[in-house]
Order: sequence, then C-alpha cells, then structure tokens
Amino acid sequence: MKIAVLPGDGIGTEIVAQAMKVLDLLKRDGMKIETEEAAIGGAGYDTAGDPLPEATLKLAKASDAVLLGAVGGPQYDKLDRPLRPERGLLRIRKELNLFANLRPALLYPELASASTLKPEVVAGLDIMIVRELTGDVYFGQPRGIEVRDGQRWGFNTMIYSEAEVRRVAHVAFGIAMKRGRKLCSVEKANVLECSELWKEVVAEVAREYPEVELSTMYVDNAAMQLVRNPKQFDVIVTGNIFGDILSDEASMLSGSIGMLPSASLDEHNKGMYEPIHGSAPDIAGRNLANPLATILSVSMMFKYTFGDQATADRIDNAVKKVIAQSYCTGDIWTEGCKRVSCSEMGDAVVAAM
Ligand code: NAD
Repeated sequence: MKIAVLPGDGIGTEIVAQAMKVLDLLKRDGMKIETEEAAIGGAGYDTAGDPLPEATLKLAKASDAVLLGAVGGPQYDKLDRPLRPERGLLRIRKELNLFANLRPALLYPELASASTLKPEVVAGLDIMIVRELTGDVYFGQPRGIEVRDGQRWGFNTMIYSEAEVRRVAHVAFGIAMKRGRKLCSVEKANVLECSELWKEVVAEVAREYPEVELSTMYVDNAAMQLVRNPKQFDVIVTGNIFGDILSDEASMLSGSIGMLPSASLDEHNKGMYEPIHGSAPDIAGRNLANPLATILSVSMMFKYTFGDQATADRIDNAVKKVIAQSYCTGDIWTEGCKRVSCSEMGDAVVAAM
C-alpha cells in the first residue's frame, strides 16, 4: 500500500501528523504500508513555485492513495490565481480523474448537542453523499458572459453524458451495497432534460443491483428533507452542483467541521482522502485543531481503496471510543468534556486502537 502524504498548509501539518501516528501503528502491527511526503498548496508554492509541483503530481500518480491535510492561507491570497493553493487542489483532482466525491455526514450520539438541529432529529445520523465531481454545469461548454442586444448575458451549460452518470451511479450502488442498501438519486427531472437523462441512466444501472432499494427525489425536496428528517437517507447520489450544495448542508447537520472526512475516487478506486475543512489559519500552529476528520479519512482509505473493512472498523471504533470517553478538542467541546490538544487526541486514538 503506497500512500502519498500531502500535509499542505496551516493546520494541515498538525492533523496529518496525527493520522501518521495511526499509520505507524498499523505498520508496527505488520501491515505493508509505504508513505512518502510531498508539498502541495502554499507549501508547494514556497518550495517549488507551484501549488502542485511536478514531483508531487508524479508521486500522487505512482501511489495507490493520497492523504491530504488542507491548503490555503492569507499569505497566499494575493498571488495570481493559477499560483494560489486552492488551484493545486483542483488540479490534482482533475489530473487523477477523481470523479466520485464521497462525503459522509455522521453524528456521534455524544455530540448531538453540537448540532444546530434538535438532538432527536440528528442523533445517530449516518448518511453518505456521493457527488459527481468532474462534470455538470461547472465544466460544461459553452459558458461565459457576453453582450447581446445591448445588455450582458451570463450563461453556463448543464451537461452529462450517460457514461459519466453510469460510472458515478455504479460507485453509489456499490457503496449502498456495503451499507444500508438504500440509494436516493437526487435531480430536477421535472424541469431539466439533463436531470431526465440522469434519472433514466440511474434506473438502468439499478437493474444490476436488485438488492438495493432505489428512490428518486427532486433537489428542492431533498434540501428540505435533509433538515426535516435526515435519518430517512442512507446513500444519496447526485450531480456536481446539487451535490456541492447538499453535501455542505448535510455536513452542518453534524455541527462539527473537524469531524468529517471525505474521499474522491477514480474508476479503479484509487482515491484522495481529506478532511472537509480548510487550513484554519486562525488556530494553525497552536496544537488546537481536531485531527479526527483526518484520521477518519484514513479509515475511508482502508475501506474504499484497500478494501480492508476490518482496519477501517478498527479506526472508526477507536474514534467512537475516544468520543465516548469525552475527549474533546475545542471545536467539539461541551460542558464536562476532557479538553485535549491536537496531538493528545491523536495519542488517544492510537491508545484506543
Ligand atoms: P476552514 O475550514 O479552514 O475554517 C473554518 C472554521 O472552522 C475556522 O474557525 C477554523 O478554526 C475551524 N476549523 C476548521 N477545521 C478545524 C479543525 N480540524 N479543528 C478545529 N477547528 C477547525 O475554512 P476557512 O477559514 O474558510 O478557510 C481557511 C483557508 O482554508 C482558506 O485559505 C481556504 O481557501 C482554505 N480551504 C481549504 C480547503 C481544503 O484544503 N480542502 C477547504 C476549505 C477551505
């Protein structure tokens, strides 16, 4: 198992160091894991003048999986756009053809009071959103702003090929098979032809997964159902723009940005794994960050790229245990918790494993 480790900027280095403690423990237990570190984002710009240095891309392509911390920081905000840290992230996703973005929204019962929704609505929440990541209105041509008849018009093109829908649908059905076997496809087929095709292709793919119960929902209703009764969902599959919005909405249900991992996969299950949050410059360098989203990203790596459910469960159970033991970093702190630093949280997870 060859893993490219890209800590990035800000808290990236602190949280990835904790995930490395988990990988080191697995190595000591005899797993054949090889890790190699490289720079990305602002760190890439500082060392090689490029947010995605050639050597980093080469390493990522030669690895089975990529573990990423976070990129960005105020010191890079004045750079030309192509040199900004976030561009490195967009480029690596595109270069690796990571078309399926998996974002779980999960709420540990002990953290229910951290959500803005009523505890009974969200306690025990466990949803997986599969968002198509490389197509749709974000990439469709033509696009632009132009003057027609004396006024400006802005336009984009919502477009999907059936092959693009089919491959992300297969990923989503595959995930549903490993979970509660319920898949909800979200679109706007009552208004958009692009969604009509999406719906048809997902229904065709469904015939190959008779064990999975498929439902469909319009995106406006899905946005409403996510706050009304989110526990009705198991896996959701949707296009790029709808997924962008719904996955952010769903992540807020759990109330703690420092807890949520993500995976982006290509068609051979090679993946990039990263927390959903950014580089948190406001707390960087102070050993305050919550490393659990990054550690849970390692768990997703074992589940989806290495097909090793037992190791994924071992990591997930260790995280559940430290939460149950009331260890809390500042972002998830509530009255009565044991407040710990980033590195102490990493140590607690390793001890629990
Ligand atoms: P952010 O996610 O970095 O931080 C938002 C808030 O959440 C901050 O108050 C921060 O302290 C807190 N927070 C985030 N992660 C935390 C953690 N693990 N533990 C405890 N608290 C945590 O978002 P932002 O402030 O909007 O962006 C900061 C920088 O990160 C920007 O340069 C932005 O472009 C970049 N960014 C990068 C990614 C990425 O690398 N994938 C994602 C989003 C933002």
